[in-house]
Amino acid sequence: MISKKTILTGDRPTGKLHLGHFVGSLEARVRLQHEYNQFVMIADTQALTDNFENPAKVVENVYEVAMDYISVGIDPNLTTIFIQSQVPELTELTSYYMNLVTIGRLERNPTVKTEIGQKGYRDSIPAGFFCYPVSQAADITAFKAELVPVGDDQVPMIEQTNEIVRRFNRIYNTECLVECKAFLSKTSRLVGIDGKAKASKSLGNTIMLSDSPDEIKKKIMMMYTDPNHLKVSDPGQVEGNVVFAYLDAFATDKNEIDDLKTHYAKGGLGDMVIKNKLNDILQNILKPIAEKRSTLTPKYITEILQIGTENARKIASKTVAEVRSVIGLRY
Ligand code: ATP
Ligand code: MG
Repeated sequence: MISKKTILTGDRPTGKLHLGHFVGSLEARVRLQHEYNQFVMIADTQALTDNFENPAKVVENVYEVAMDYISVGIDPNLTTIFIQSQVPELTELTSYYMNLVTIGRLERNPTVKTEIGQKGYRDSIPAGFFCYPVSQAADITAFKAELVPVGDDQVPMIEQTNEIVRRFNRIYNTECLVECKAFLSKTSRLVGIDGKAKASKSLGNTIMLSDSPDEIKKKIMMMYTDPNHLKVSDPGQVEGNVVFAYLDAFATDKNEIDDLKTHYAKGGLGDMVIKNKLNDILQNILKPIAEKRSTLTPKYITEILQIGTENARKIASKTVAEVRSVIGLRY
């Protein structure tokens, strides 16, 4: 029997999951869990790196994120869902990898740079936050994952991981660590409802998977369109128009959206028409997810997290044993 290849991916429990997660990674996980040996990590340790003063927020959201997973169709019988902090082997790997990375290399990570700006850290960057790409390398390599379904903001982390893998294998003369590839979806960066480049939990510019029908509608009505499209008869701009970005990401009938774009650009199509269209589409997608969520009990979520974490720990321990051995830490 050919053994299945492995996927590792995850999310920070800094809030409930949103539509960016859905198109960026969750949909792929639901599909790929049948073909791959899939691990999905709730990255509470990583979330603490910029929320260390508010651990309760992180802990609460571990359960919310797990509920989001099950609601969208991640099946705990096919996917191992686990909590990062409960697999201390990941921290051990991180400390070995820290030696293989320079401060200069970490400073060049474009995603971390952007996030440092957003969080206003400037000269007081927490070291844990600055180094989180190294801990991501530990997470991925602990499971020898070959595929990582992520949004495009995570591509620099995959590059960094592969540099660590190559360096480790070369220095310790081994092939024990495995290189990985990012798996990017068609919409690998969903814009925020405010028009910002990325919908993100920390920026609060998202439609969450667990939003009520009223909240969804309210957020769509607030979406940025074209500020110069004042009268229905005015020609409207499609590029940079958040409603069209969401229609591109979520509508299944592409021809219909192309026709709407042509009409909008020519003039004569009001913002309300495209917003109502988007509302119909998103309500349809999110309704079954909300229904599934309402059936989940805390006991069930606790159970699947416990089982998943135990299983994940077994795999990570094996990798750590190998890593210690190739470094020569055999006592
Ligand atoms: P935070 O603001 O706390 O960083 P986030 O919204 O960026 O939260 P993460 O938990 O950091 O979410 O990301 C989890 C996964 O979802 C990553 O693979 C990331 O690339 C992907 N993702 C997050 N936001 C988007 C988005 N707007 N479009 C596509 N993928 C996204
Ligand atoms: Mg993020």
